[in-house]
Amino acid sequence: MSVTTLKKQKIKESLKKTKEKRRNQVPKVYQLKISYSNLNKDQKQWLEKVFLEAKWLYNYTVADIENRLNPQTEKLKQVEIKTPNGYEKREITCLSSQMKQGILDRIKKNLSNLSKAKQKGIKVGKLKFKSDYKNIPLKQNGITFKVLKDKNRVKIQGLKKPFRVLGLHQIPENSDIAKAELIKKPDGYYIYLTCYIDKNQIKKEKIKKPIAIDFGIKHQLTLSNGIKIKYSIEETKRLKRLQKKLTKQKKGSKNYFKTRYKIQREHQKIYNRRKDIQNKIFSLLKRYEHVLIQDEAIKQWHSGLFGKQIQNTGIGGIISRLKNNLETLISVDRYEATTKICSNCGNRKEDITLSDRTYRCENCGLVIDRDLNSTINILKIGLSKVETTTIKNLPTDCGKVTPVERKASARILESNPYIRVSYASVKQEAPNFS
Ligand SMILES: [Zn+2]
Repeated sequence: MSVTTLKKQKIKESLKKTKEKRRNQVPKVYQLKISYSNLNKDQKQWLEKVFLEAKWLYNYTVADIENRLNPQTEKLKQVEIKTPNGYEKREITCLSSQMKQGILDRIKKNLSNLSKAKQKGIKVGKLKFKSDYKNIPLKQNGITFKVLKDKNRVKIQGLKKPFRVLGLHQIPENSDIAKAELIKKPDGYYIYLTCYIDKNQIKKEKIKKPIAIDFGIKHQLTLSNGIKIKYSIEETKRLKRLQKKLTKQKKGSKNYFKTRYKIQREHQKIYNRRKDIQNKIFSLLKRYEHVLIQDEAIKQWHSGLFGKQIQNTGIGGIISRLKNNLETLISVDRYEATTKICSNCGNRKEDITLSDRTYRCENCGLVIDRDLNSTINILKIGLSKVETTTIKNLPTDCGKVTPVERKASARILESNPYIRVSYASVKQEAPNFS
């Protein structure tokens, strides 16, 4: 057998092995942020330049796809680009040939998508030039990039010093790192890492105990095990200051664009914080086999007094994710008087207002956190509607948090500095017969 056939055979075998392995794995993308404060001058310059070169290469190729979309272009050290002064040459020094290959592969893929759409009768245009290239493919682990997990760093081909990154701790042990992308966003640079994770490692035991949620203003979420989750991401002072500054600057001036860019970055930062909180809360709730909510009139809240507060909490986002993603979500009619009824004896109390944070039952002596009382009512009403008998009964430990639940909430929620977790109280007093 010749050397090349032997080589081909080896590649074929290894591909087959990978395919078999992937059957028991699921892909997951992890977001790593490049720590900007730890960058040296070379790294900062390289990051700026590499995205510029990616744009040049992309536009150069798209300008003449027929002649330029080929392996020859991957080897180019110089491209020609159109400027207001005519064509000028630009050196390619940061993009490695693997990165160039990745960019060309993407163009090929976009073209084939366009032609598929065309075959279906959809009207399609041509590939457009880009004014900014924000996403560079890093194809091969070990070649274009290397993860140095114990050092919290990622090395990228062509750059001597590895980048210090945040977020490597999220990646489980024994996962296969497949590919990565280098991303430019208004708030900084990121590496998106695609990993393959063992299915068994993902499939954690679900918590069998059903859980009900009350969405409130003061504590955004109260769970029927007594966990109260509080958070709020408000517009930062910096954002307000920048917005004020912008109104005083000359439209279209250099400083105007500078400020506008800073505002974008600040918005992105706030958005990311909010998103992360939503993700964390959702992943905690996902652990439960049955989740119950009352179909709140969020829209009414929005227009009312609490509009701004609700917007800052993103409660709407959490509810829609629950509705879209949980097969076992049970929802209770919004008109059920869950705040007025005693969850212990069923006595109804009419004179409870929004400022009463504690529910005191004159009939049975229950003194309970107001929102926790509501969640237990939601649980009771919801479970009574369920067809399957397995969860029909109210769990005996409802209102209490189990060690498993406490551990899960600590692991998932407490890694985010904007989330505060506390526990609601319940006690039994002698009934008041006065
Ligand atoms: Zn009562």
